[in-house]
Amino acid sequence: MSVGSDPSGGVDSSAAGRPVDAPTAARTPVRTCVGCRGKGGRSDLVRVVVVEGVLVPDPRARLAGRGAWLHPDPACLDLAVRRRALARALRLDTAPDVTAVRAEIDRRTGSLPPA
Ligand SMILES: [Zn+2]
Repeated sequence: MSVGSDPSGGVDSSAAGRPVDAPTAARTPVRTCVGCRGKGGRSDLVRVVVVEGVLVPDPRARLAGRGAWLHPDPACLDLAVRRRALARALRLDTAPDVTAVRAEIDRRTGSLPPA
């Protein structure tokens, strides 16, 4: 007679793909300038750290220790000094010597006459 073949379909496994979007590469940490309190990215602000009581620029943000961020702008440095914001941000008892950072900012802004 006739043999009824039962078509048993295979189990259709649908691939449960995860949505691949929202790359995290474009995430930029926002820093706050201790002078004007304006916000900016790492490329807008320069990191400064205190080494033995002297404030030094840390353009590559590689030095260890507590750092503060500042616009490379003499006005922001003046504001930070006047407000004692650097001492506060860096947990210092006295205001640090900012000569080196001022020189760095002056060099960047080109406000120093060529020596
Ligand atoms: Zn600023």
